[in-house]
Amino acid sequence: MRDFSSDHRWLSLNTATVRKQADLIGIVEACARHGIRTIDPWRDQVVAVGLDRAVRAVRDAGLELSGYCRGGMFVSDAARRGEVRDDNRRAVDEAKALGAPCVVLVVGGLPQYSRPGSDPSKDIAAAWGQVHDGIAEMLEYARTANMPLAIEPLHPAYAADRACVNTTRQALDLCDAIDPARSGMLGTALDVYHIWWDFELMDQIARAGGERILAFHVCDWLVPTRDMLNDRGMMGDGVIDIRRVRAAVEAQGFAGYSEVEIFSNDWWARPLDEVLRTCIERHRTVV
Ligand code: ZN
Repeated sequence: MRDFSSDHRWLSLNTATVRKQADLIGIVEACARHGIRTIDPWRDQVVAVGLDRAVRAVRDAGLELSGYCRGGMFVSDAARRGEVRDDNRRAVDEAKALGAPCVVLVVGGLPQYSRPGSDPSKDIAAAWGQVHDGIAEMLEYARTANMPLAIEPLHPAYAADRACVNTTRQALDLCDAIDPARSGMLGTALDVYHIWWDFELMDQIARAGGERILAFHVCDWLVPTRDMLNDRGMMGDGVIDIRRVRAAVEAQGFAGYSEVEIFSNDWWARPLDEVLRTCIERHRTVV
């Protein structure tokens, strides 16, 4: 297992962590101040400053990317299927322009939440089918751009509105069904926030192997959690044994970034430099 205690070479900042404090350009500048060399930007933050400007800012700062957030939301009613396909193709194109190593997929839940305006449905089995078909279709396009796709299983609390893929096993089942050859173009983004509770986690990480682990996200689970979406903890402030999970993914050969991704009303209210200083300190001490 790599030793992070003396530097933060392997820290990546998911830009949602400081989305309320600055735009993407301001975040890139802040990363330079703190010696953070890698980010994972969100599409809306890229759109807000313009793709060309975002590409220039990343390049001029010498930043790497650890992913691009996000594609997916595959579940919709029939009228919106074309919109879903085109939107995901744009995500691949943007990721390519920015030099991302993968597009992170949040796959969608029920159609009325994944793609607002869709006819409502309670049929989660139909949603699973659409997710399978949507990923398979997107992967065909992603292969032409040589852009891997990383399925992120989300905690089951998000099954209705964000992702009906909720465990590492379920994500790997999709990978095996859609990409049985393990081409390297389809894998998972493992976020400790979503998977720490799963009794099968260690077995499933071993099943994934290095080639199915494309990204590793860290934050912490607070007790109590006061807001289902925006009360994630800073690493070390909650109950997740982050090192145990990192040791398991690294034992499979994962040698990429520990990407800090914290959606938190508390941390969004603090100064940008304080947040980044704390991320670095916790990366060294508890990640
Ligand atoms: Zn994540």
